Amino acid sequence: MMVYKYKRLVVKLGTSTLTSGTSHLSEEPLSNLIAQIAALCDGGCEVILVSSGAMAAGREALSFPKLPKEIPAKQMLSAVGQPRLMAIYETLFAHHNHTVAQVLLTRQDLTQRRSYLNSRNTLLALLNQKVLPIVNENDAVTTEEIRVGDNDNLSALVANLVDADLLLMLTDQPGVFTSDPRTNPKAKLLKEITSSEIPEELWKSASNSKDELGTGGMITKLQAADLARRSGTNVVIASGTEPEAILRTAKGDAIGTYFKATATTLESRKRFILSGTVPTGKIQIDDGAISALQNVSSLLPVGVTSILGEFDRGDTVAVIDINSNEIARGLTNYSSAELSKIAGRQSKDIESILGYYYGEEVIHRDQLVLIHTPN
Ligand code: GLU
Repeated sequence: MMVYKYKRLVVKLGTSTLTSGTSHLSEEPLSNLIAQIAALCDGGCEVILVSSGAMAAGREALSFPKLPKEIPAKQMLSAVGQPRLMAIYETLFAHHNHTVAQVLLTRQDLTQRRSYLNSRNTLLALLNQKVLPIVNENDAVTTEEIRVGDNDNLSALVANLVDADLLLMLTDQPGVFTSDPRTNPKAKLLKEITSSEIPEELWKSASNSKDELGTGGMITKLQAADLARRSGTNVVIASGTEPEAILRTAKGDAIGTYFKATATTLESRKRFILSGTVPTGKIQIDDGAISALQNVSSLLPVGVTSILGEFDRGDTVAVIDINSNEIARGLTNYSSAELSKIAGRQSKDIESILGYYYGEEVIHRDQLVLIHTPN
């Protein structure tokens, strides 16, 4: 059995990888990449694929129509292309007995706390069922304000959402160079970046390189790498044509450019929970629940004695003891209205009380930071 260094990986395939630099989606490189992803999943890893190519598939399906550059034309193309892209994935993954799922996201789904929790739970539920999520931006309907805009940054946000160990961005370049290798023959491939900040010269040289087919270029890849490593995810940027690129990266072989994570996923989640204003919503809990939290358990409704203020599912709330000392802060699975109905009750009764169920915890352990230990 192969031993992999990373357990949960986000793999990002760009348009240039899917088309081999042409204007047509080509199944050949794709089937090879898919065989590698299937092997990873069979070896016990969890993989989320972020795939571009919807617009390219749409253009191909409509025989390369001449269209204005405006947004509706692009949205139309991705609406035509997205199901075709998924059909290709579905067929190719079926050869390896893997089921795929389509998840279309926008920036809003990833940054607003309520939808953030929902998107996270959906992706984790798919992984639990051994279904491979294939993510793209919901291009057909997103407006400029709520778009991520490129799948490099989208893949970093997804990596953050699911606490991935590794984000692998496959592209048409062997990695990140000291300057653009297409114009400067002296450009050198950078093996790794371990400094806490990505060097300024790299940002400069990346801003001059552009990718013809996809939306991103090296600059969006660097932005994505920067974002992902700050949230605790290691990043590799490598060429999709490198033999066994996915499997070798997952084993920890040095290919392409490696960016070491600058925080742990736990630190980053804590920062996320503690960021923002002091919560106005409060959940008061009993002594039994306090000991449970101190013993690394989740907060269950049975330990909740009262609810102060109004809050929504996904909001950050303060968890307080009977003397109003703050014990912890976390993202709540239930709104104040819902909690007032289930406070003091057993988790198994949640569904019959509310008529639905967001999980047995009021605040899951992973979404909770202990703040203060009373004497
Ligand atoms: N979401 C776009 C598509 O599927 C791609 C965006 C990108 O290339 O970064 O065509």
